[in-house]
Order: sequence, then structure tokens, then C-alpha cells
Amino acid sequence: MNIVEVKNIKKKFGETEVIDDISFNVKEGETLVILGPSGSGKSTILRCINNLEKIDCGNIIINNNAMIKEYKKNNPIYNDKKILKEINLDTGMVFQDFNLFPHLTVKENISEALKYVLKKSKKEIEDIVDNVLKKMDLSTKANSYPCDLSGGQKQRVGIARCLALDPKLICMDEPTSSLDSELVGEVLNVIKNLTKEKKTMIIVTHEIKFAEEIADRIIFMADGKIVEEGSSSEVIKNPKQLRTKQFLKRYIDIKEKSMEKLDIKNEEPYDVLKYFKEISDIPRKSGNEKEIRNYLVNFALERNLEVLTDKYYNVIIRKEASSKTRENDYLAFQAHTDMICEKEEWSNHNFEKDPIELIKDGDFIKANGTTLGADNGIGVAFMLALLNSKKINIPNLECIFTVQEETTMDGARYIDTSLIKSKKIISLDNSKEGKMVISSANCMEWFGKIEKEYIELAGLNTYELKYSNFPGGHSGGNIADKKRGNPIKLGVQILSKIDGIYINNISGGSAVNIIPRNFKIEFSCKNDNEEFIRSEINKQLAFYGSNVEIKLEKIKNNMKVLNLDISKKILNFINSYENGALKFDQKGNQILSANLGTIKEFDDFIQFEYSLRSNNTVLKNSYIKNLNQNIEDNDVSIIWSQELYGFEPDYDSNLEKEINQLYKELFGKDMELLITQGVLEGGFFKNKINDLEYICIGAEIFDAHSPSERVSIKSLQRTWKFIKEICRKI
Ligand code: ADP
Ligand code: MG
Repeated sequence: MNIVEVKNIKKKFGETEVIDDISFNVKEGETLVILGPSGSGKSTILRCINNLEKIDCGNIIINNNAMIKEYKKNNPIYNDKKILKEINLDTGMVFQDFNLFPHLTVKENISEALKYVLKKSKKEIEDIVDNVLKKMDLSTKANSYPCDLSGGQKQRVGIARCLALDPKLICMDEPTSSLDSELVGEVLNVIKNLTKEKKTMIIVTHEIKFAEEIADRIIFMADGKIVEEGSSSEVIKNPKQLRTKQFLKRYIDIKEKSMEKLDIKNEEPYDVLKYFKEISDIPRKSGNEKEIRNYLVNFALERNLEVLTDKYYNVIIRKEASSKTRENDYLAFQAHTDMICEKEEWSNHNFEKDPIELIKDGDFIKANGTTLGADNGIGVAFMLALLNSKKINIPNLECIFTVQEETTMDGARYIDTSLIKSKKIISLDNSKEGKMVISSANCMEWFGKIEKEYIELAGLNTYELKYSNFPGGHSGGNIADKKRGNPIKLGVQILSKIDGIYINNISGGSAVNIIPRNFKIEFSCKNDNEEFIRSEINKQLAFYGSNVEIKLEKIKNNMKVLNLDISKKILNFINSYENGALKFDQKGNQILSANLGTIKEFDDFIQFEYSLRSNNTVLKNSYIKNLNQNIEDNDVSIIWSQELYGFEPDYDSNLEKEINQLYKELFGKDMELLITQGVLEGGFFKNKINDLEYICIGAEIFDAHSPSERVSIKSLQRTWKFIKEICRKI
């Protein structure tokens, strides 16, 4: 017999559909587990079943009582009070945050509904409370208040309170996710025992192993829909849908590794980690740097150090040379205070207010499901450790803390460089130990537009050519990898070889600095071209591998198309545009690259977004000359949207030589010199300070900008030694 029947329910909050046509049943004695990323609608479903939230469509039947009596003008009319009361008595809910009354004892919390709702006698209540407390192993806590209980005990009271009413159905919404990890087990155990007693339950949880063990059936949902449903071994061991696989993979990866919270007391370099921990407690999303600015200013004032700050929240802290003999030596270090904020789907982290939780995983420090902010918090921590130390022999030190490096670069762009006395700046924003960045790219971004002109057309066939699942990647770092491909260019390459293509619509890509992952073009042409297009597609598929998708499909004829001239210009412009990694220096460093990032349609025009990265002005200028020709040939109007400054390699730099020498003395090998197509803040400093020498070093950080970001502790130790040596000797 079904205790619960959920039939095609829908639920909107405002305009957003949170539950989108969900149906499932739960049989008597069955345990159903609902899995899914946060925000997918799991709690909302439980709340609808418990009548804590009203549904917009469909019906919910609990123990043969329907919640909705009828529909009037598409509006649900809820059933009579009497029936709803029965439904309420048949359903019980255990909440993530326990929801206990703080002013009542454990016993009173449990008795409350027995007394006032079920109107049980005193004696009956005594018996029931004793019984459920025993079951939850809480007999000794009957007279305690919630504040005197551990999280695990509180949740067991929550479960006891639910059991006391003996509902036909028990719903639990992430019953262990508010608990410290060491308390999770005791709660999972009592739930496990309930499944043995054949209680009918719906449980929302992120404990995948537990789910696998207890569930008779599992539903995986995402975006308000059921993505996959089956036995626990089907869904967890052999998920069929990509979405389920991705969710489970991330989850199991993280949870199955034994990880411990980082305890800096036992770690070296303690001085650096101490400050890294302190700043990790401060939310530092780009554009939100006021709090870290305040922290830095206080840090300086507490140590009697000179500190300067500006309206952008940049900070400069100065410290005098350790000895008279060094009073003419100046050296600056630089790092940015902001960080990229990315998290795993399951993470509830709030980047506006939560501290980053540091975890130790072998030689690595990482965060719990979020970016770590080692990029560039480790640089900040190195500087704070230098500024704090009384022992390290330093020249006149200037520590420059910039903001918004990850977004607009406004910190470096607007910082008043007249305040900086040093002609040598060592940036700590490199994530490759043993390597020194000596040049970063100048990056120019621009929009191009082609005006649309439509004609009516009959007698041709219409097709959709669609590219999806291309790997994409960063327009600076990944563009030399030919296997990534640019689907916009690839599609256009094929169609440019055919005469008489009329474009209906065209779109692709997601952002100017990301290699596009998809492209779609609808076009009309004579049907005898189809075979040729298919054979070209097959060649591309053979090259780009089995993960990508390229599909040609005949679709309903579209009579309204762009005229032949405009269609040709669009194809010709894209096809002639030089894209990808274009030039390399003798050592194989990429020094010129371009990315066609997006193509979008607007009412009157088609818009392209491009970026150009160069580490060499001559190459850049010659590229722009070719581009201008292409623009002119195809009547494209363009707007340069922004320029981020780069800096070219300076092979005569003394700073570079000195640093390399010190490195060699310490570690027995030369540093590798890097020319990056990424944009560093150095370009802005070099642009504003004459004769500035600027290089960039750092400790080994992996997977920056993603929740897998991690920094090697051993690398931190070596890099810290190196930085102290630089201070001593330079
Ligand atoms: P889950 O439990 O799977 O994390 P929820 O059911 O809590 O998801 O939420 C699903 C979506 O509905 C989320 O986008 C959430 O922000 C939104 N939502 C939930 N409750 C409300 C509410 N009372 N008002 C507006 N939006 C809500
Ligand atoms: Mg929830």
C-alpha cells in the first residue's frame, strides 16, 4: 500500500519554478532517499508533503487522504480542515536545525504535541516519552534543556519528538548536516535502526554511503525535476545520467578521503600559516575588500608600521631596514587580497560571511568544498610574516596589497604609484615554484558588429548545425591546446566552403576570456550540400574526440533569412579572423594569441566578442593591421572595450639575475623564466613607474580558481626560505 503519492506537483516562488512536475510514491515500510545539489528543491518537497508549503499544481495523497480537494480555475482548493488534520497527524518532520523549543526541557519538547494536539493523558504521555527517550538513548537527558545537549543529542531529541506522535510517514531533511563530523555517526545509527523497524520514511541527505545502505529506493533530483530514480545500487553504483554521475563523483571524492582540519600549531612555516589562517577567516571576494583592508591597517598600526590606503582599499605597509648599513636598499613585495569564489555544488558556503575552512590533505592545504584563496592569500601571508618578524634581516620594505585582481584589476590600475619608493617589485602572485614570470600579456578586448538585413526566401532547405561539449578553457592559458578547438570557427570553416549559405541565426560561446564550448547556426542552402557538410563534420569529430558533439539536422524551413551579402560577410569575417595561439618565441613561449569568445544575435545586429593577448608590441601591431583589413573588407564596426596592460621581457634586468642567483645558491638550479599570456598586475605598475623592475614568484598552487585549489606545504616551506633569503641579500 502506498503511504505517500506525490502526483505531478509544481511549486513556484515568485517567478521561479522550484518544483517542476514531480511524481513519486512511497510504499508502507519503504525508505526513500532524495539526493541532489543544494537548491534543487528537496526541502521544498518535504515541506509540501508536511503541508508547511502550498503546492500550485498536482496533488499529494497521504494514507489515502488527498491534500487537494479540487481545482477551481486552475487554482488548487485544499481539503477540509478535518482531513488536513489527519494528514498532519500522519506526517512527521525532522529538521536540519532541530527546531527544538529552547525554553522547554527535552521531556517537555516531546510532550508538547502529545498534550495539546493529541490530548493524551498524563500517564500515556509519561509512557510514550520514556519509550522514545529509551529508544534514542536519551533517558538520562529527560530534564535537560537543549542548550546543554550536543548537536547529536539535540537531533536525537528531534527524532524522538517525531516518533512520539507515531506518524505513518517520517520525513527528515538533512538530519546530520548541522552536526560536527564526529557527531554524525550517532544520528545515522538511530535512523538506521528505524529503517530496520520498517518505518515509512523520506530522507534527504548528503551522506552518500549512508543513503546507499538504508535506501530501498533513491531519487536524484536537480533543478526541481527528477533526473534519475532507482534502487540504491542502480543510482549510486551505476548512475545513468551525466548529472547524477557528476554529483556523485564530486561527493564521493571529497568525503571518502580522510581529511583533517588544518591545525597550524604543528605546521611549518608557522609564521606564514598563522597569517594565512587569519586572513582566511575574512571573506575576500573581489570587490569586497574593505574588511581585509581594515585588518591590514590594524595589523600595521599594532606594530607601529607606516601604512597608506586609498578609496579602492589598496594598502601599502612600510617597514624600515633592519640595520643602518641597509638604509639605502629598497625592495617591494606585492600580492592581491581578493580571491575567486567558487564552490562545489553541495557546499553551503556563503562567501559574503563564512570563513574559508582550511583542511590538511597529505602535503596539501585545501578548503572544504570551496576555492582556498591561496591565490593570492599566500602572498599576503608571506608579506605579513615579513612585516611581523623582528629577526629577518630586511632592506627598507614596502608591502603592496592590491584589490580586484581577479576581476577588473582596478587596484593595480588606480593605485597611486608615487607612494612607492622602490624600483624593484617582486610580485608573489605566481603559482609555480621555481619559476619566475618575466612577462605578462597585454590583453585587448573588443566587440564587433555586423548589421542585419533580412530577405524572404523559399525553395531551399534549412539546417541546424550544432556544436556542443567542447572542452573550452582559459583564453590565455589553454589556447595553445589545439585539441580544444573553437566550435564557432569550426562551424564557420565548413560553411565558408559552400556558396549560397543564408544564415537564419547564429550564436555561441559564453565570455570573451573563455574558449567557446558550443556553437549553433541555423542556415538555408541547397540540399545537395548536405553530404559535403556531413563528411566535413566527420573529419572534425575524428580529430576532436568522442566527448564533443557535432550534429547537423534538417529543420523546418525558415523563410526569413539574412541576405546573401550579410551572410557571406559574417562567415568570411569569422573565417579570416586569426584565432588561437598564433606566435611563439624561440623558447616556445606563446606570445600572441586571440580568442573569438562569443557570437550573439541582437534585434538589428550580430555581435562578436574577441580578445587579443600579446607579449610583444611589434607582433601586436602587425596583428591589428591585419585585423583592420578584415574589418574593412567585411563592413564590421568595432569598439575596443578594454585594455589590460602587460609587460615585455627585460632580459637585462638585474633583479631577475640576482633573484635567479639566490635561487641557485639555495636550491642548486636555475629558475625557469616564464612568459605568460595571462594578465598580471605588473603591467599596470610598469606602465606607471619608470625604470621599474618587476618579476613574479610564488609557491606551488594547484587548480587555482576551482574548489580543488590546494597549496603544497613543502613548497611553502621552501618558498618562505627563499623569500627570507631575498630580503637578506638584495
Ligand atoms: P534544497 O533543499 O534542494 O537545497 P530548496 O527546496 O530549499 O532546495 O530550495 C529550492 C529553491 O527554492 C532554491 O532556489 C531556493 O532559493 C528557493 N526557495 C526555497 N524556499 C523559498 C522561499 N520561501 N521563498 C523563495 N524562494 C525559496
Ligand atoms: Mg534543503
